[in-house]
Amino acid sequence: MNCIFCKIINNEIPSQKIYEDDNFIAILDINPVSKGHTLVIPKLHCVNLFDMSDELLYKTLKVAKKIGNAIKKSLNTDSINLIQNNGADAGQLIFHSHFHLIPRFPNDGISIGMTHKKYEEGEIVKYAELIRGGF
Ligand code: 5GP
Ligand code: ZN
Repeated sequence: MNCIFCKIINNEIPSQKIYEDDNFIAILDINPVSKGHTLVIPKLHCVNLFDMSDELLYKTLKVAKKIGNAIKKSLNTDSINLIQNNGADAGQLIFHSHFHLIPRFPNDGISIGMTHKKYEEGEIVKYAELIRGGF
């Protein structure tokens, strides 16, 4: 399998590792949105969130919280975006599931890209019905 993150996990590609345990690594993103932007990566190759077991997801969030606390302390901020992209149209570039921790600072000028739209008349009700039908 030609997966960059599997290669990083196996030390075939170098990275700035800031955390490792039996099931996870955390590395600095090579093209950071802000300095200290960290990726939390399960060692098990899963494509994205929907491919992960509930147990692995729970463990991943626990590790993300632990690393987020280290980032908060070391970079002296209490603001962090936790982001996770699923699918190409959502901006996923590496198809090995991972969570982004992006430290934020006052007036850092970063836009995380949520541009809000308006529903047409009655459309919000239709979308709620559609999604309720998806369970
Ligand atoms: P995605 O868009 O898939 O959620 O995010 C993938 C992230 O991986 C991007 O932010 C990108 O900068 C980062 N990335 C891609 N290749 C490498 C690499 O070889 N090393 C590191 N450290 N980060 C990478
Ligand atoms: Zn992989």
